Amino acid sequence: METVAVLASTHQKSLPNLPAVADYTTPDTLKKLPQKGIGAAPALMAFQNDVMPYLSGSPGPRYFGYVTGGANPASILGDWLVSASDQDVGSAGDSLATQISLQTLAWLLDLFELNRDQFEGVFTTGATASNLLAVLAAREWAGDEFNVSVAEEGLSAAPNPLFFAGSPHVSLQKSMSIAGYGRNSFEPVELLPGRDVMEPDDLKEKLAAAGKQRKIVLTSAGTVNTGDFDDLNRVADICAEHNAWLHVDAAFGMFSRCLPGLKALSSGLEKADSITGDSHKWLNTPYECGFFFTKHMSMLERGCGTSAIYLESTSDEPEFLSRTIESSQRFRALPIWMTFKAYGREGIKSVIQSSCDHAKKLAGWIEKSINFELLAPVVLNIVVFRFKPHDYSDSASLDRLNEELLAALLQDGGIRITPGERNGKRGFRAAFCNWMTTDEDIEFAIQTLERTALAMRKCQ
Ligand SMILES: *Cc1c(COP(=O)(O)O)cnc(C)c1O
Repeated sequence: METVAVLASTHQKSLPNLPAVADYTTPDTLKKLPQKGIGAAPALMAFQNDVMPYLSGSPGPRYFGYVTGGANPASILGDWLVSASDQDVGSAGDSLATQISLQTLAWLLDLFELNRDQFEGVFTTGATASNLLAVLAAREWAGDEFNVSVAEEGLSAAPNPLFFAGSPHVSLQKSMSIAGYGRNSFEPVELLPGRDVMEPDDLKEKLAAAGKQRKIVLTSAGTVNTGDFDDLNRVADICAEHNAWLHVDAAFGMFSRCLPGLKALSSGLEKADSITGDSHKWLNTPYECGFFFTKHMSMLERGCGTSAIYLESTSDEPEFLSRTIESSQRFRALPIWMTFKAYGREGIKSVIQSSCDHAKKLAGWIEKSINFELLAPVVLNIVVFRFKPHDYSDSASLDRLNEELLAALLQDGGIRITPGERNGKRGFRAAFCNWMTTDEDIEFAIQTLERTALAMRKCQ
């Protein structure tokens, strides 16, 4: 175990120098299952030699793809101890783990300035699972109107509710597919011009037109494309007027609430019926670590309820196995609890602040650059931009040029950005969430962009 500690700490220190995209060849997967074991220490050596060199530097400071957090040191320690202590927090009454989980959920509510008396939560494997829990809870609520528990009697026992969404994250669509409604079975609400979020007046009209049917509204606090926010205050009022369930996918955007200057972006979040959050992104805890909050825990417990004599507990603590997908479940709270203990609210705030500063710094350079242009205003930690040399104007060739530059950047491997798109213009997207990223990494990113673009033009 001591060897692992050294190995892990060396690996973490090397992250700034590891390529964001690993260079590997697919091993012979047909190799036979080992019959005789070699022992744990040689197995570790095998991992160190055969696997480790080919892992990605994605938890490192220059990985700006998707919305990818790293793993802060305290959370890694916590994560190891999750395995070493191997508690099952599905059932309560055996250990302090349930209480620590509840405490960590309460701390998260405090961090986001949400009311502990209104919301209850559960840990999940990530925002996708949290979004699924939202659909399952709202599904029970919708069935209630007809005195039906959909969880007990199935979808055909009650009329389907109507779902409304502007630009839902793909995981919400996946959740609707898993829950049996179909990933495209939502009413698309018009988007505000040039933005990623709903036109509230259109939502209002569509809810009014839906009459008495049960309605579920899926909104965003931090869209994955540009980090944009629905006007939650307005949307919540419209939902209240039409008796609709309001779900907010706030996977990473929720963390903007830590900063006084950005809290207004998600004002109204407190009016939601359910909220999705991720901690393996901006809180920089290892995968798989997400959370879900709702004001209607009894609905979720109907959707995820699990009872059997062998599972009965005499504890009056909540049974997490009846609040989420997994029955047996790891002590997911611990890496978050360790993060709170080690860095406190102040430490967490400073990571959020520096990510937003990094996004601003890159955007500031792009605005001044003669070769690059911003495709969307920077709301939070995401920059959407493209390469646009002055001698290019036709849009198809610009799109192609941007695809070529992205391929060249991947080849270079120094930084990782992913494709972006705005109003039909193709470009790049850089998202900042990693605790390790410094101003020098942004300088490095700028130089890499300039150098790679220049080299590409020279070859043309
Ligand atoms: C990342 C993300 C998700 C999906 O989260 P996972 O943790 O990958 O399951 C959902 N919604 C939003 C807004 C996200 O950014």
